Amino acid sequence: MHAHGDDDGLIELKTSEQFEAMKQAGKVVSRTLALLRSAVRPGITTGELDRIAEESIRSLGAAPSFLGYGDFPGSICASVNEEIVHGIPGSRVLREGDLISIDCGAIIPADPAQAATGRWNTRGWHADAAITVPVGEVAPELAELSRVTEQAMWAGIEAVKEGVALNDVSTAIDGYTRTQPRRYGIVRDYGGHGIGSAMHMAPMVFNYPVRGERTVLATGMAIAIEPMLTLGRNKTRVLADDWTVVAKDGSPAAHWEHTVALTPEGVVVTTAPEE
Ligand code: MG
Ligand code: MG
Repeated sequence: MHAHGDDDGLIELKTSEQFEAMKQAGKVVSRTLALLRSAVRPGITTGELDRIAEESIRSLGAAPSFLGYGDFPGSICASVNEEIVHGIPGSRVLREGDLISIDCGAIIPADPAQAATGRWNTRGWHADAAITVPVGEVAPELAELSRVTEQAMWAGIEAVKEGVALNDVSTAIDGYTRTQPRRYGIVRDYGGHGIGSAMHMAPMVFNYPVRGERTVLATGMAIAIEPMLTLGRNKTRVLADDWTVVAKDGSPAAHWEHTVALTPEGVVVTTAPEE
């Protein structure tokens, strides 16, 4: 079922049954991220975190959304310090004082037999979330950068309601960030997205208000809300590995993300940490 959305295409509307699968995917992602958060420590490599993630996702009956997506080699994105998003997990050793953003996605396969072998192109229902984690003790401004980014995400999530303009969600993220005593770079080159039977779908979810953006939130929609902030400017560049996005000015960055569903029973953050 589809409804007309913005210029980027049709917005997928989910049934209650499909939302149940998305909630399952959300649980897989939130459990996996909880595991990764507790594994982060000085001396661990981002590749070890990736192995923990893939094993967790598969043991919970899901497939990684990222592995093989556009040839991405990992089940998580691990972005350290000035890396904003899409960092490739590998031999990098985390050091005391680093700030790491971990992005993770999972698919609950429509056909459960696919889970064991599945990757990004598995047919099924997706969840996508990211956390930023301090490695040991970090500088106070890094802790605050992560806190403000997370709260900007929650400001966006709190604006999600049936009948509300998607642009109001963007305005809430931007507005929260701009009312902080310190100035942050609000990354504009990347943003959130619709999600469901694919990880990235219409509509785009900007982290700043966009003139002419007319999508209205409706029951059946699901979106990933994911602000990225830096301690410097908002300009980005992509490293020679063709994936890793870094702050052009080298300033540290944070990234938080949740998948949010407008179900008939109300707004559900499918990737919310379990109590
Ligand atoms: Mg993500
Ligand atoms: Mg996302």
